[in-house]
Amino acid sequence: MTNFSDNRYYELFERQKKNQFRVASTNYKTRIKKLKALRLALEKTYKQDIRDAIYADFKKPKLEVDLTEIYPVIDEINFATKHLKSWLKKQRVDTPIALLGSSSWIKNEPKGVCLIISPWNFPVNLTFGPLVSAIAAGNTVILKPSEMTSHTSKLMKKIIEDLFEEDEVALVEGEVAEAQELLKLPFNHIFFTGSPQVGKIIMKAASDHLASVTLELGGKSPVIIDDSSNLDKAVRKLVFGKFMNSGQTCIAPDYVFINASVKEKFISLFKKEVEAFYTAKPEVSDSFSRIVNQKHFKRLSGYLDDARSSGVEIVSGGAVNENDNYIEPTLVFGSKSDSALMTNEIFGPILPVMLYETIDEVCDYINGNEKPLALYIFSKNKRTINTIVNNTRAGSTCINHNLLQFLNHNLPFGGSNNSGIGKSHGYYGFLEFTNQRSVLKQHTIAAVDLLMPPYNRFKQRMVNATIKWF
Ligand code: NAD
Repeated sequence: MTNFSDNRYYELFERQKKNQFRVASTNYKTRIKKLKALRLALEKTYKQDIRDAIYADFKKPKLEVDLTEIYPVIDEINFATKHLKSWLKKQRVDTPIALLGSSSWIKNEPKGVCLIISPWNFPVNLTFGPLVSAIAAGNTVILKPSEMTSHTSKLMKKIIEDLFEEDEVALVEGEVAEAQELLKLPFNHIFFTGSPQVGKIIMKAASDHLASVTLELGGKSPVIIDDSSNLDKAVRKLVFGKFMNSGQTCIAPDYVFINASVKEKFISLFKKEVEAFYTAKPEVSDSFSRIVNQKHFKRLSGYLDDARSSGVEIVSGGAVNENDNYIEPTLVFGSKSDSALMTNEIFGPILPVMLYETIDEVCDYINGNEKPLALYIFSKNKRTINTIVNNTRAGSTCINHNLLQFLNHNLPFGGSNNSGIGKSHGYYGFLEFTNQRSVLKQHTIAAVDLLMPPYNRFKQRMVNATIKWF
């Protein structure tokens, strides 16, 4: 057995480990009480503090905080509260005839002590959202939010300390070093949201203890707008989805395919919508947030410098302000497939557009890259929609809009391979933190009792009949 006693978080981990069976034994009513206390903290006690903290971190507008940080967690709580009783019921399953005399069921039991590591881009949503699922499933939890949104992390620590004992839910503030120290401990489940690069590090660390993982990762999410779509509406929705949170959204449209024939109309609609949303000078708009820090500002302005020097057309936007981590909503045409813009997840307000001729060519391009977290289609043509959905792979798809698939708690949310492993939200989130324990109870003599050694010809004939008839 490895000795973890020199780990900085050993004592906290051990306390949660000791407490896990008490927490696991709580019924749905007790868990709902905890979830409701969290809801009250988000919608009343700390609502304004949350808005202020996220504004201090990256000037996110108040309405976007309410809509994309507070509302999704409250919705997750409401859904879990409504269904938890049935999720925790033992689920009887059928008995095959060969197992006559027995009954079987599934017991949804908690995994145990869980670690949730979250990113900065939706700091409250992506820390407390998975926490709701973990609490509903009956786990103890250590949270490690991002160091990049430190005001929000500090506030979340206060909220957690206000609502929970440390041996049930605790929040560790810190940087990469703190995350790595936590990862050395033998958690039963690790729920990570972040980049595919760090996802690989998490999975390697989890393998030391064979901890199960949920990896909610990112990547490049394409958009296809075909000739049949209503271009005015498509561009309006696209501008909303791309520039909300200043493009720092895991499922934000990353790049767009349009037909060459609509290029000029697309550009003029794009300019019109950006101006309608953020005024002619988005830098002074209250509706447009900033890039989270200098590191990401430099990465994004580097993409623009790279684009300019390789002759890419910046047809709209392109202005930056280093002192305020500001990057204007920007539209570019003609990026090469091996350019920085087309090989990295952009995660910022820059939108490259590719011109296509056939849908097959679009599917080939998408399939030539990693599986996206989201894929968007704007089209009225059923055949085109089916061709794209059937010939590509993606974590999720939204047709004739974008981002909205995240908000339906009846849908599993997550990626596939490079964009993620496992799913979150609603029942799917609850299952990630649950061990579906199989239980079989024998009531009478079992058929297999007649087949125990020593084996003979009669028993062989019974096995033959079982294989043939049952
Ligand atoms: P990140 O991977 O850099 O960091 C996420 C978390 O991991 C942070 O808490 C950080 O402290 C920790 N971390 C960073 N490096 C680490 C290391 N070497 N070892 C251990 N822990 C480490 O991601 P980010 O920059 O915070 O967020 C952006 C990424 O997250 C994008 O790729 C985005 O697409 C993705 N994302 C995915 C989802 C989703 O639901 N699938 C949601 C939001 C963001």
